[in-house]
Amino acid sequence: MQNSAYIGRFAPTPSGYLHFGSLVAAVASYLDARSVGGRWLLRMEDLDPPREVTGAQAAILDTLERYGLHWDGELVRQSDRHGEYAALVQRLFDQGLAYACICSRKQLEGSGGIYPGHCRNAGHAGHDAAIRLRVPELTYRFSDRVQGEYSQHLGKEVGDFVIRRRDGLYAYQLAVVLDDAWQGVNNVVRGADLLDSTPRQLYLQELLGFSQPRYLHVPLIIQPDGHKLGKSYRSPPLPGDQATPLLIRALRALGQPAPDELADASAEELLAWSARHWDAALVPRTRNLAESQLR
Ligand SMILES: [Zn+2]
Repeated sequence: MQNSAYIGRFAPTPSGYLHFGSLVAAVASYLDARSVGGRWLLRMEDLDPPREVTGAQAAILDTLERYGLHWDGELVRQSDRHGEYAALVQRLFDQGLAYACICSRKQLEGSGGIYPGHCRNAGHAGHDAAIRLRVPELTYRFSDRVQGEYSQHLGKEVGDFVIRRRDGLYAYQLAVVLDDAWQGVNNVVRGADLLDSTPRQLYLQELLGFSQPRYLHVPLIIQPDGHKLGKSYRSPPLPGDQATPLLIRALRALGQPAPDELADASAEELLAWSARHWDAALVPRTRNLAESQLR
């Protein structure tokens, strides 16, 4: 059953190694694509070299291979796409859809993360400044395949957001929208920590005339101390020789338990079975899952 229409992707950030939470997201996006014969692309979101862990890119690719998560086509690196991001930022700036912001961190204190708009009409020059995208006073909503209806008022809940930082680094929101469209991605399956980024991405898609992908946000795996895996501190790489048991655990987290007979299967055999039995409707409809519940 080859469905050339479905194009999904996994887009890890090399600020750390793959951890169990990112494995859950990778497995979900892989199975959702493979279950309908779709393509599964890989994009390295290496936009922030200062935060990159040396060796993490190679380790992520090695883990994916060892865990049977074989991707289609060439790996895309965002670090190779600065020219495209720069051209887009310039275009949005020239069209007045974005503007330069020279606010210091101190000036932004106390605004609760919502930009108060100091520079909105100041007409600052674009160099040596952050570039912010003007957001409309509108609510953006979408229907997530697992999390259900989600809406956010961009003006009240987000404010004008940075698309290029003052230090010249491009923002995730900008790159992800441009790259998903460029790669033809029409199905985004990722962790629920990105649920509240989605309305900003919907606005960018609308602005750029891109079609909206379908979204499926899988639960985040939370450790017993309440921390999100992999974000607050460095998780070790997933053990290369534990692919099958950890895949079985990831499948359990996704509400797709594998039969006991597959406990000794290879990663590829296990994933092939799982693709045949994948049912997105069984993914727990929650944003967080405790890791302790999965043992
Ligand atoms: Zn400002």
